[in-house]
Amino acid sequence: MERLPTRVELLKRNIQVGDVACPLCESEDETATHLFIACGFAAAIWAKISLWCKVPYLVAFSFKDVVNDHCFCGLEGKKNWRTRALC
Ligand SMILES: [Zn+2]
Repeated sequence: MERLPTRVELLKRNIQVGDVACPLCESEDETATHLFIACGFAAAIWAKISLWCKVPYLVAFSFKDVVNDHCFCGLEGKKNWRTRALC
């Protein structure tokens, strides 16, 4: 819903952020989709979390896929902290 305060969204709200490039990879603008789906740095973190939690690696095509992942990752309740942090 474009509510996350990414650099692109902050700039839309006339908040000066300087460069809107992702500070993690500097390859694209920092949007929620980029941070959670396309960023190579974030993808490496997701891969490590998946290994740590012993759940399948999340293949997401949208931010909604990431949020809805809790239904399919194999973890329930308190163990499913991966997506609880996003809600
Ligand atoms: Zn990035």
